[in-house]
Amino acid sequence: MSSTYAGSCLCGTVRFEIEGEFERFYLCHCEYCRKDTGSAHAANLFSSIAALMWISGEDKVRQFHLPATRHSKCFCNVCGSALPMMQMNGQLLVVPAGSLNSEVHARPHAHIFVSSKPCWDDALDKVPRFDRFPS
Ligand SMILES: [Zn+2]
Ligand SMILES: [Zn+2]
Repeated sequence: MSSTYAGSCLCGTVRFEIEGEFERFYLCHCEYCRKDTGSAHAANLFSSIAALMWISGEDKVRQFHLPATRHSKCFCNVCGSALPMMQMNGQLLVVPAGSLNSEVHARPHAHIFVSSKPCWDDALDKVPRFDRFPS
């Protein structure tokens, strides 16, 4: 039994499905992932067996490769949201976890490139939490 996951970008132009399982789930704190997400870390699922199918908006999918590195990003040309991409000559599917609409039950396997963390990205689980904007 293989799983099917649905995903989309923020504006809804690009929709996709992933069929198959993920093998790795990493939270990457490297400086490239920080820049490209604008956040503390990327949250990417990896699979060498799952298949990616674009349901709509494939013509709006753009890929950026950072020269002289292995870092790439796929994104929606309309809203800029991160999207799945194939890497390593099509052998590795990389899926930004936040792009999925389906629940993913896998827990992240690891934080990686933690030596690149900025000083504010520390003990974030100790920061106060609110269900909405604090009043
Ligand atoms: Zn979009
Ligand atoms: Zn990274």
